[in-house]
Amino acid sequence: MKEDKFGSILINPRCSNNCVFCKPDKSLHNDDLGLEEEKKLLKDALYFRKNGFKRIDVSGSEPLKYSKIIEFLSWLSKSFDDISLLDPGNRLADKSFASRFAKTGISRVFIPIYGSEAKYHDAAVGNPGAFNQVVKGIKNLLELDSGIEIRLTSVFLKQNIENFYDMFVFCRKEFGIYPWRLTMPYLHNDNKNIRFQDFLVSFSDIRRAVLKISRLDAEDIRIEYVPLCIFSEEDLLGFNSIRFFNVFYLYNLSDDEINKRIKDIVKDYRNQEYLWQCEKCFLKKDGICGGILREHLLNNKDYHFNPLSEDLYNRVKKNIAFSKVNPGVSK
Ligand code: SF4
Repeated sequence: MKEDKFGSILINPRCSNNCVFCKPDKSLHNDDLGLEEEKKLLKDALYFRKNGFKRIDVSGSEPLKYSKIIEFLSWLSKSFDDISLLDPGNRLADKSFASRFAKTGISRVFIPIYGSEAKYHDAAVGNPGAFNQVVKGIKNLLELDSGIEIRLTSVFLKQNIENFYDMFVFCRKEFGIYPWRLTMPYLHNDNKNIRFQDFLVSFSDIRRAVLKISRLDAEDIRIEYVPLCIFSEEDLLGFNSIRFFNVFYLYNLSDDEINKRIKDIVKDYRNQEYLWQCEKCFLKKDGICGGILREHLLNNKDYHFNPLSEDLYNRVKKNIAFSKVNPGVSK
């Protein structure tokens, strides 16, 4: 079985977005990192290097807003074989910044896009003007032909669910690539700023959107945290280039005190539960499916779930991207 092991480094300046499913408390962060936060970044990286990690994922709020991010990424890419960065992409709209970023030597960048037009994207990220910035940023990077792989991601939300197919067509036309990873929003259950009813979509709507994009000529789409039992047998047998992944995993964070608190928060918002139907499902028996994210389960109480038999699993397993992510990190 494939094992997927990486170290995570979180960089948290104040994010210029205010995504409906995240709503960070902006008073907790400054626009740039302070000295202590910078020291922690270095400590995190050295921890992973000392422990033999080859692959690092950098994320946070908006890591590219950190004033020394170019220097930090350039340094990281000399110490590790594979560096990924997840960032909203707003800052890449600045061509001279994008040129410096293109030379950092990192392996890939994940950039979320939430629609084919500003009205969808900006509503999802709570930041008017963000769509124009992210589109410009992606185009800048493509023009620079930097060797950094660009992977677009998106999230199923009320704000964009009717636009998913058009968003795929738009991305193909404007950037030459389809979104690669789609996910349901993880839920910060402890964040009082969030109102689930503002953005949660039903499994019926997600199923409809996935069936529509499955007719496109995409070579590889990865869908995370959408349980396979929301589809019928006929749906599953019809998928070709779609792969599903649905197991809980934790960031592999360094042993810093602050990281221990972050792990508790992540445990909470990625909490999954099994249904009674799961007892009949081969995916539970084999540990391939971790269940359903709690708030999504509450939002879909009356949904007709279709647990998978072993026989059906064997016929559709090419569509399941099961791997042990960060083995050894305790739940
Ligand atoms: S294990 Fe449960 S949640 Fe997962 S696919 Fe099967 S029935 Fe659905």
